[in-house]
Amino acid sequence: MANYNKVTQNMLRELKEIIGERSVWTSPEKMEPYSHDAVTGEKYVKYPEAVVLPGNAEQVARIVKLANRNLVPIVPRGAGTGYACAAVAHEGGLILSTEKMDRILEFDEQNMVLVVEPGVRTSEVQKAAQEKGYLYAGEPSSGDSSFIGGNVATNAGGLKAVKYGTTRQQVLGVQLVTPEGELVTLGGKLKKDATGYGMTQLIVGSEGTLGIITKVYLRLMPQPQQVMDLLAIFPSSAAAIGMVAKIMQTGITPVCVEFMDNRGIRCVEDFLGEKLPHSDNGHYLIVSVEGDHETVLEEQCMAIDELCAENGSLAVLVADPAKIWKARKSFGEANRARSLIFSAEDIVVPMSRIADVVEKLSELGQKYNMTIHCVAHAADGNIHADIMKEELPLEVWNRQLPLIQNEIYQFVYSVGGKLSGEHGIGYKRLELMEKFANPVELKMMRAIKKALDPNNIMNPGKIFRLE
Ligand SMILES: Cc1cc2nc3c(=O)[nH]c(=O)nc-3n(C[C@H](O)[C@H](O)[C@H](O)COP(=O)(O)OP(=O)(O)OC[C@H]3O[C@@H](n4cnc5c(N)ncnc54)[C@H](O)[C@@H]3O)c2cc1C
Repeated sequence: MANYNKVTQNMLRELKEIIGERSVWTSPEKMEPYSHDAVTGEKYVKYPEAVVLPGNAEQVARIVKLANRNLVPIVPRGAGTGYACAAVAHEGGLILSTEKMDRILEFDEQNMVLVVEPGVRTSEVQKAAQEKGYLYAGEPSSGDSSFIGGNVATNAGGLKAVKYGTTRQQVLGVQLVTPEGELVTLGGKLKKDATGYGMTQLIVGSEGTLGIITKVYLRLMPQPQQVMDLLAIFPSSAAAIGMVAKIMQTGITPVCVEFMDNRGIRCVEDFLGEKLPHSDNGHYLIVSVEGDHETVLEEQCMAIDELCAENGSLAVLVADPAKIWKARKSFGEANRARSLIFSAEDIVVPMSRIADVVEKLSELGQKYNMTIHCVAHAADGNIHADIMKEELPLEVWNRQLPLIQNEIYQFVYSVGGKLSGEHGIGYKRLELMEKFANPVELKMMRAIKKALDPNNIMNPGKIFRLE
């Protein structure tokens, strides 16, 4: 670990000169919400020495220069909804919250680009696009809370990635404050760019370790006029998951194909206090299609319905979107209500191997006597497996969790998968990353980090450690 300095009174004075007294917080009550993200458990909580809330990019640059000069760590933060403990100041220092940088700066209709500050809520970005008749296609389930800067820094996926890709595919450019405090624009409104390395895309998904995003250039597309959601219910998880490739091979490109296993469905049902269809024995696939012509969508839905029926579905229903998406989006909160401590795994595998992973998870759950609830962005090969602590004594949980994770990821890597599809590595998965990631790839990442952040002050101790 680098020899960092503490935040001194002098430094606090300088910070207040840059952003004003009321935007520098040091009291424990005000800093509590910034001491953790959506990951629960004592070891994931750490208070920063101060929280700073700049209002523009120039202020961010001055703060970063100050932190770099004083060898004080600085952690960029969005809404703190992350599942990787990546926006927490584990090595001390400053949290830089982007919540005051929440302006939509420009709607450029000619180029179909929206330019926003990082602290704009994802749902506000979607709304701003929609009001002008356009679609912003990034759609994490946390969109009512998360910020666009956080989405970019984690390369968030979500509910439209099958058709439109993850956040990466929506980002044309970013303005960045580098770890040394320089302000630079990477990319912009260009649809293509072969001018050297793809720096914009290096920043997407870098989890705040390579700089602070202060502006984002987002791709827009015309808003599809119609959406239809189908709920296909199967008697086993294998039958449900087996359908995913078949649906994708029809030539229909759904917006999403989401899987929920029966344990997850029943947990959500208890949490919401609402009856869900076939919750006694059903496993769900939620398939959404969107486009401009109702008849085309109806034909697509009929084709999917027939395919599911031929493959043993219990029922295929035209889903009530409000009800089914509330259920799907409540998965994490329902698990938290059942067990305050749980480990949200974010496995990604080639689509053809999801069924094998779900079967392996069930086998390992039995072996370790731990309950695992699963949902999947199934057509992306991305499985969210929440391992529940429930009544297990803490010492048993702490002993068993690394053992089961180790077996899970040995299997995942053996079938060509990886640790995280969309939540990132952060602090939470750092040890697994160092154990399972390709060593040459890790060496390349460390070299980039050292080159861009020579003092290792920008969100240190996340993704990997520097030896
Ligand atoms: C109920 C729930 C549902 C979720 N569903 C999804 C989902 O469907 N898909 C998905 O991908 N994720 C999902 N997540 C995880 C989380 O919401 C995403 O990772 C989201 O992108 C985080 O955004 P945030 O603003 O909360 O970022 P934070 O948690 O504040 O930060 C996340 C990371 O981004 C960095 N960061 C934040 N802002 C900046 C910036 N301006 N510049 C540089 N770095 C920055 C931080 O340092 C940190 O490394 C879900 C979480 C919850 C709680």
